[in-house]
Amino acid sequence: MTELKKHFAVIGNPIHHSLSPQIHSAFAKEAGLHIDYKALLSPLDEFKNTIHQLIAQKLSGANVTLPFKKEAYELASQHSSHSRIAEAVNTLEFKGDQIIGHNTDGIGLVRDLEQNLNVDLKRKKILLIGAGGAAEGVIYSILEKEPSELTLTNRTIEKSHVIRNKMDVHAKSFNVNLNVIEMAKLPDQYFDIIINATSAGLNNAEFDLNHKVFHEGSLAYDMMYGKETSFIREAQSQGSKTSDGLGMLVEQAAEAFFIWHHIKPKTKSVIESLRAL
Ligand code: NDP
Repeated sequence: MTELKKHFAVIGNPIHHSLSPQIHSAFAKEAGLHIDYKALLSPLDEFKNTIHQLIAQKLSGANVTLPFKKEAYELASQHSSHSRIAEAVNTLEFKGDQIIGHNTDGIGLVRDLEQNLNVDLKRKKILLIGAGGAAEGVIYSILEKEPSELTLTNRTIEKSHVIRNKMDVHAKSFNVNLNVIEMAKLPDQYFDIIINATSAGLNNAEFDLNHKVFHEGSLAYDMMYGKETSFIREAQSQGSKTSDGLGMLVEQAAEAFFIWHHIKPKTKSVIESLRAL
């Protein structure tokens, strides 16, 4: 009996730069699955209708990207623990009349750091810059790895305080020191890992980060991918190791693929082929 072709989509605005169709097609090819995965632009005020149209068209699931992750959280009728804590959803499963929301961004980041970059997070001092959906989506996964300290900073510092207040109960349960420091006041102290979860690089914006946060031996990780940001340039000039977020993108997609197909895809060859592009 021929297996029925399953249909998926990634929804965002804008969406034309998305690599998700390529990534999921590569995973499916390797797994011998027959899937259709398209990129779909949703008008900004039409996300809910777009999803209901996809369900009517019998799609099996969808990825959700900027700026709809919060709306996807509101729309889902059931939530995974990671998406409930982040209050943001990047992966939807459509099962009958149920919409199940997941968040795989944190798992994607941690797998890229640990498995692809060989960086152990346990007992490390980590700085997370940004307080948007991406930052909020990865905090719980970082805390689970029990760093000694996670410091939050953001241009609009009030948002970091809100996140800290929400996440402190989880930080305490993993025995992690969760702090907030204003970006301009970041002390000349050592962080093992500095993660840029801002969208500053999208517009080539410089941001007011004390270059003394970068040290030889530390890792500067920018969630942006596809271009060299001022964050990466500054870190390199101070002797830090650096990485962009391409590995995270592929690893979060691999977790979404596992949720939909119950198959763990191999990621390294996909990361390499996308990097070669
Ligand atoms: P949001 O729009 O939700 O948040 C944007 C964040 O960037 C805010 O903290 C904002 O600060 C900050 N910011 C924007 N411009 C500047 C600037 N000029 N200077 C300083 N801070 C700035 O975006 P997301 O959180 O969803 O995404 C953030 C980035 O992460 C994007 O580049 C996205 O592509 C990337 N990403 C990568 C993924 C991957 O798999 N590699 C997955 C998810 C996201 P403020 O609060 O002050 O406005």
